[in-house]
Amino acid sequence: MDRADESFRKRLEEERERLMAELERLGVMEQENPGYSTHIADDATEVFENAKNQALRQNLQRLLGQVNDALAKFDNGTYGLCEDCGGRIDRARLKALPYATLCLQCQRQRERL
Ligand SMILES: [Zn+2]
Repeated sequence: MDRADESFRKRLEEERERLMAELERLGVMEQENPGYSTHIADDATEVFENAKNQALRQNLQRLLGQVNDALAKFDNGTYGLCEDCGGRIDRARLKALPYATLCLQCQRQRERL
């Protein structure tokens, strides 16, 4: 593993910390503000906030999963390799998206399907 890979790993670890802190913050907010159960059901703002938090939480969890998958690849030595063709993912692409699992070509191919 070279130095550049190490810097991607560090970024992924930082990203994981950030995502987990964010999820925890959302969880605390929901405990302080239990929503539906104790409030009047037709409080539209409340319902909207809950839906928004839920969407945000799902998004964070999905990202966290991707970050964890990428970190696991460091351990089995497949980080930076495309899951479809097995080729090296472009460095510039990893810089923009450290948890990318496909090379640009394969990504484009999937998007076309
Ligand atoms: Zn590929």
